[in-house]
Amino acid sequence: MSDCLFCKIIAGEIPCEKIYEDADVFAFHDIDAKAPYHFLVIPKKHIATLNDAHDATLLGKLILTASKIAKQLGFAQDGYRVAMNCNERGGQTVYHIHLHCLGGRDLNWPPG
Ligand code: 5GP
Ligand code: ZN
Repeated sequence: MSDCLFCKIIAGEIPCEKIYEDADVFAFHDIDAKAPYHFLVIPKKHIATLNDAHDATLLGKLILTASKIAKQLGFAQDGYRVAMNCNERGGQTVYHIHLHCLGGRDLNWPPG
């Protein structure tokens, strides 16, 4: 989608700190980290919100990719959180689905 921020990041039109990429998913560090580790895993296909997502395999891959990266970065054993915000009340600000992965500190629950 041409006017989507995350589609532009995938296309390399906007720079990011890339962590991982394959045919289906793309992962990069969040520009405004809320924890010592905070990265996003997104599908390469443009999907606006979780309400528009129907591909269970792809959604599962987002989660498993986050887990693999957390292990590689060394904070998986201590623990971490994955979360996807949906629409306004969920706190979604970028309308291309993305799984947040936060770690490296004690995380409060429920999140603010
Ligand atoms: P949301 O609020 O939609 O769940 O999360 C959007 C996330 O994208 C936020 O945590 C925000 O910091 C991050 N973000 C917004 N713009 C950019 C950007 O240009 N680059 C990167 N790396 N992250 C971004
Ligand atoms: Zn997009």
